[in-house]
Amino acid sequence: MTLPLHKTQAPFYELFFSFQGEALYTGLPQIFTRFAGCNLKCNYCDTAYSTIISKKAKYLTVDEVINKIDLLYKENKKKFVFGKPSVVFTGGESLNMRYRNSCI
Ligand code: SF4
Repeated sequence: MTLPLHKTQAPFYELFFSFQGEALYTGLPQIFTRFAGCNLKCNYCDTAYSTIISKKAKYLTVDEVINKIDLLYKENKKKFVFGKPSVVFTGGESLNMRYRNSCI
């Protein structure tokens, strides 16, 4: 049976607000969504714990992720200088998740 997209779940380790520490958006406020599970094994990976799906991973639906992002945005709204949330979908491998098309 195929679940409707908004009821499909993916494993996450954490969703949190912080300032970006690398690349194009360095220094800017962002909401981070850290998936659990990754098949890539990059040699520069700084979150090795996120490459596996351990018991600490929490399975969330698309709606739950959107609600959490919305809450984090509201809590930190004044820090978002452009008036809109900026969200990072990070590893684990976010492109390897069943509902990836609804996230990106
Ligand atoms: S979590 Fe990111 S950096 Fe780490 S192995 Fe996966 S894709 Fe590479």
